[in-house]
Amino acid sequence: METEQAFTPVDRRKVYEQVAEQLLAQIGARHLRPGDALPSERELTESFGVGRSSIREALRMLESQGVITSANGGAFVIADASNPLNSSLQLVFTLDSETGIHDLFELRRIIDCEAAALAAVRRSDEHLQQMDAAIDEMAAALDGGARDEEFISADLRFHLSIAEATGNRLILYSMQAARDVVRRALLTVVHVPQSPEHAIVEHRAVRTAIAAGDANAAREAMRTHLDRVERDAEKGVANG
Ligand SMILES: [Zn+2]
Repeated sequence: METEQAFTPVDRRKVYEQVAEQLLAQIGARHLRPGDALPSERELTESFGVGRSSIREALRMLESQGVITSANGGAFVIADASNPLNSSLQLVFTLDSETGIHDLFELRRIIDCEAAALAAVRRSDEHLQQMDAAIDEMAAALDGGARDEEFISADLRFHLSIAEATGNRLILYSMQAARDVVRRALLTVVHVPQSPEHAIVEHRAVRTAIAAGDANAAREAMRTHLDRVERDAEKGVANG
């Protein structure tokens, strides 16, 4: 019996994804080792022959995956242990056809809501400052018309600062992994009208509850936020 062509042409990948992939390959091949500094943004821009924004985006992506981490002076170094949950969760999502985007949002709700409740009890002032900085960056990205990557990265930083405030690194890794897999869905969300604006208001509500040390309010504010994001994700996908 003749088999149908099962493959379709792949999308041309974005420049920053290709840059991130090459850097990842170098790190994997141990040309760059844990603790080593990455070349500067300027050097990378020259050696890859791409725009600075693509380099920045690639670095943000690797940072959010836990592969690199920012050191003093804004430079990046290779992280000690990259987060193995990222690739395994991505793999499960890709291979297990029973697992859908709704399952991922459900997982995020479990992790993020409980993380917010713990953060309300355990956060330091420094954690609150990190949350404020992330919210400010979201607002600045929106003002600057950067609704995509910059906004999403700042949004991610807000959630990760909550994970950090729990003091539990497994929560941080799990959140990073779940979040990374829904990244594509989130790219559609930012184009749903008013979605980024709502996210800023909702993040402030979460931050206020955490600052007040109110675990129940923090959990509920996070649930309200993630429920709305999931609804917008469904709209975004429906709109193409
Ligand atoms: Zn958010």
